[in-house]
Amino acid sequence: MKKSFENYPLSSVVLSNLFNMAVYALGAYLLLGFGYMAALVYFIYCLYMEFSVMKEGCIGCYYYGKTCFCGKGRLCPVIFKKGSPKVFEKELNWMMFLPSFLVIIFPVVGGIILLVRAFDWMTLVLTAFILPFYFIGNAVVHNYSCTHCKQREINCRVLDMFDGKKK
Ligand code: SF4
Repeated sequence: MKKSFENYPLSSVVLSNLFNMAVYALGAYLLLGFGYMAALVYFIYCLYMEFSVMKEGCIGCYYYGKTCFCGKGRLCPVIFKKGSPKVFEKELNWMMFLPSFLVIIFPVVGGIILLVRAFDWMTLVLTAFILPFYFIGNAVVHNYSCTHCKQREINCRVLDMFDGKKK
């Protein structure tokens, strides 16, 4: 097994956040086709999901107060009190990931609607690009972050679920 990190390097925090921001920026740009309000609501939803991850997961993570791969371990104590590590033991199912996937579903569905209403090449390219960009980028980020994760050694139902393991 590869070495796990007590604190992740700053480069991983920067790169994983740049990736998230790129997804949100592309999504907001696509949804601008429905007007500024649609893009703003989407952006607020993305922000809400970032806080939701901290509230639901980071409070009980090994990296609470330390530098995890995305830096939320450092940010979380500023906003939320430390929680129980049991958050990592709760049963998960795919429906629970729907709110996270809406971050990509909204711009893809929005892009398709815009294309049906009035075709243009830029919308087509961005709509076709954002989905593989999101999934491949997430796979790369999580392959790296999960490989070096101390929480993984303790317990991580998210990883178990994606690996198809049951406890
Ligand atoms: S193993 Fe992966 S999914 Fe689980 S806490 Fe660590 S980085 Fe997150």
